[in-house]
Amino acid sequence: MPIYEFKCYNCGKNFEKLIFKREEEKEINCPYCGSKKIEKLVTSFSSVKSKSNGFSCGSGRFS
Ligand SMILES: [Zn+2]
Repeated sequence: MPIYEFKCYNCGKNFEKLIFKREEEKEINCPYCGSKKIEKLVTSFSSVKSKSNGFSCGSGRFS
């Protein structure tokens, strides 16, 4: 999914937006204050906060 993270220079908040077309990036403004002074942040999918606690398969089953 093409989700990008942006930072607003005006109010300093971060927000995420779904971008399907390149032209949409220019039309984006801050959802908090409406400013267009925003910066696109580089997001990597490896840093996505996902609770993956299903990592205990195999361990502790020695019967
Ligand atoms: Zn803002």
